[in-house]
Amino acid sequence: MEYKPTIGLEIHAELKTRTKMFCGCKNDPNEERPNTNICPVCMAHPGTLPVINKEAVRQVLRVGVALGGELALKFSEFDRKNYFYPDISKGYQISQYKYPLVAGGELAGVAITRVHLEEDTATSKHRGDHSLVDFNRAGVPLMELVTEPVINLAKQAGDFARELQLLLRYLNASDANMEKGEMRVEANISVSKDDKFGTKVEVKNLNSFKIAEKAIEYEIKRQQEVLEAGEEVVQETRGWDETKGATFSQRKKESSHDYRYFPEPDLPKLKLGEVEEFKPESLLKTLPELPWQKRERYRKDYGIKESDIEILVADPVLDEFFEAVVADLGRDKQMVQLAANYLISDVLGKMKVKADLGLPPHADFTSLIKLVAENEVSSRGAKDILEIMLVSGEATGPKKIAEEKGLFQQSDTDALGKIIDRVIDENQKAADEYRAGKETALQFLVGQGMRLSKGSANPGVLKELLVEKLT
Ligand code: ADP
Ligand code: MG
Ligand code: ZN
Repeated sequence: MEYKPTIGLEIHAELKTRTKMFCGCKNDPNEERPNTNICPVCMAHPGTLPVINKEAVRQVLRVGVALGGELALKFSEFDRKNYFYPDISKGYQISQYKYPLVAGGELAGVAITRVHLEEDTATSKHRGDHSLVDFNRAGVPLMELVTEPVINLAKQAGDFARELQLLLRYLNASDANMEKGEMRVEANISVSKDDKFGTKVEVKNLNSFKIAEKAIEYEIKRQQEVLEAGEEVVQETRGWDETKGATFSQRKKESSHDYRYFPEPDLPKLKLGEVEEFKPESLLKTLPELPWQKRERYRKDYGIKESDIEILVADPVLDEFFEAVVADLGRDKQMVQLAANYLISDVLGKMKVKADLGLPPHADFTSLIKLVAENEVSSRGAKDILEIMLVSGEATGPKKIAEEKGLFQQSDTDALGKIIDRVIDENQKAADEYRAGKETALQFLVGQGMRLSKGSANPGVLKELLVEKLT
């Protein structure tokens, strides 16, 4: 391609604090009654003063250390970003401009410019010829992360946003559901033929990862066509029209000086380094195992398939179950791999088809894996047992099920001996070939034995006995 696309992301996430950013109102994204969690501060009544939510600061700093960014320990402050809109009743948003809480860092190979803290706006609802404003969301702590313009593919932008969502969930900093607006992605996109950056366009209202990727693809193509036609790309803010599958112009882009940023006089300056729990060493101690660390551990310690790792890392309920099974299995690499296979292809497969199925007790699942590993049941038998375990939901246990349904593989030498005699009798040619040194003939004979036993024979034992008999 002639034109090189450049993408930078701005991502907002609502933090999961108990109360709002500058007042004691409840921060409840699920409150459906409008204007319930409100007070004079978040309604911008005159004479009220904001107070900083310490927990919100701590959560952003925690994100900062997880990203390997530099924390503003010496000095930080809040600024007023001035603009008029019905959902911003003070006439300004308290945000951060010159001194963000976090500078630098990296995620999914993408360099991060900054992470700062601000307050969310109210929400407007438009009904016919009038609009309503709901202040429940006004003043909810909002984290904003800005990346460097270093992304070149729509997919890479989507992957970055997915990884950030995962990180925020691991840190319990935000639920980060895009559909609920708890996480909002804005993409800045430009294209150019040379090393200089082209004029960028900012696309807003991208409320899923897929939509974000589609909008970026669309915008790259549109800008190329504009340039090909000998015209210039206009710096502007565009929205995404899902039905048309296209971006559309919303407004000509304002620049930062239009907002008349200045330090918020109603809030104290921050010297975060003086607070023990804000020191990087203290924050690091509070971090859980992070998504990329978990991936690496599953890869290195157990050699689990990449696609399976991704499913586990993204699904905390499934992953917790898996970790319990891993512990039950004494972290034996081979058995853990077997467990991952059965869990993701079989258990998850069945749960996808029937939504009301739950996970079995993990101890039952573990003992099933052991039965398979020790060849006590065949893989076919294991699938049947799983089916019964999941559907009946009864904690009958795989051993009992195997017994009741006759799914134990036969290892009994007498019974297998009879089968072997028959196999050799009926397949003299193959038996002679094996005796003459043809290894594949043995596989064939084992197969015949399995067929005669209707799959109930333990193939390992069957093979041993065959070799014994033939040599
Ligand atoms: P603004 O002042 O317009 O908000 P910034 O320089 O702060 O612009 O950048 C905002 C976002 O735009 C960042 O994510 C940054 O990486 C991205 N960006 C900056 N220049 C470009 C460009 N030429 N093409 C694509 N993205 C860009
Ligand atoms: Mg911006
Ligand atoms: Zn309030």
